[in-house]
Amino acid sequence: MVELPVYLDSQASSRLPAEVKQAMLNYWDNEFGNPHSPHEHGGRALKHIRESLISIADLIGAFPKELTILSGATAANNLAVQGVENLTGEGRDTIVISNIEHPCVTETCQFMAKHRGFKLKILPVDKEGFLQIDVLKEALDERVALVSIMLGNNEIGTLQNIASLAKEVHQVGALIHTDATQAVGRIPIDILELDCDMLSFSAHKIGGPIGIGALFVRDGIQLLPLIKGGGQQDFLSGTQSPELIIGFGKACDLASERLKTGRSRKENILIEQFETGLKESGYSIKRLGPSQNGCRLPGTISLKFDDIEMHKLQTWIAPFVSFSTRSACSTTKVEVSHVLKAIGLTDSEAENCARFSVDHASTNEQIEVAVSYFRKYLDNDRNS
Ligand code: PMP
Repeated sequence: MVELPVYLDSQASSRLPAEVKQAMLNYWDNEFGNPHSPHEHGGRALKHIRESLISIADLIGAFPKELTILSGATAANNLAVQGVENLTGEGRDTIVISNIEHPCVTETCQFMAKHRGFKLKILPVDKEGFLQIDVLKEALDERVALVSIMLGNNEIGTLQNIASLAKEVHQVGALIHTDATQAVGRIPIDILELDCDMLSFSAHKIGGPIGIGALFVRDGIQLLPLIKGGGQQDFLSGTQSPELIIGFGKACDLASERLKTGRSRKENILIEQFETGLKESGYSIKRLGPSQNGCRLPGTISLKFDDIEMHKLQTWIAPFVSFSTRSACSTTKVEVSHVLKAIGLTDSEAENCARFSVDHASTNEQIEVAVSYFRKYLDNDRNS
């Protein structure tokens, strides 16, 4: 029996594997104490943190000491952008981003422009969501402090070629940050190959608990601390949560294993099965973002529906299938997605788009059941 609603929104938050839950429960059953206290209980808690940091760092090929643990990717992106404020002394006062960044990057950059004297350059992407190298080159000069370009887009799945962008950014002596929240755990990531200076990611997008994420900061880069206090971490103070870090670490171990065993292939097959099912049911749909699989986040798809009013479809189908019509972080806002506008969609086209994503717990049967409800909706619609 497939449980309803079928979950097709793992990009908003993926399901927690039993092993992750168990690892956290084991800690709660056996340990307590402040990991920063210099006694036996504190030491044991700290040991758990240190072990888990190795797992988290391994997933992206970094060293544990290069990680700052925060409450999620929103906080990580805030630290990356606000942390460069101390670079202005070197005459660098410009931040460069693309026009499809997550609001937590864009809004933080707007804040830096309004309150911290930075100049902000927002670069256009092409129709598939790629930032062309020439567009970036045009924006780069010796005044640029930071370039922040996301690795995998949360709405249309475009995977940027960060390594080639990084090469250009480093030629003018600037730093490059990438928001890899959607990409970590979905594609293999090696920080050396990407050649970026900072990288953000979040546990709940890869099967970990909500409320924890990390910013990789290449050894030697001195950011301005985001939260000041007891100095538990270089760029962020506050007591660390062993249980959340353990859950994050276990999720990273499982993600590493899945990546080794060809998870992306399986997830792409499932999402293509879903797309084919919609077409065979009579939907007129068009894929958004990159047409080629290799340049798009595995296991995700963003579709433009013709001849359908998305809000009616979504209301009808909500008890049977969960999916997203725009980034979950902005569901309270009524405006049309800036990402869909950036790739050239009109307001009414953008309103009729939806994003579907599978995770480690998705199955053929779930996809079949989801398609059957989409088919039922169309049959009802035709007969009404
Ligand atoms: N960046 C991207 C690309 C995201 O998709 C999200 C989550 N929607 C975030 C940042 C924010 O992540 P968190 O929920 O961990 O704050």
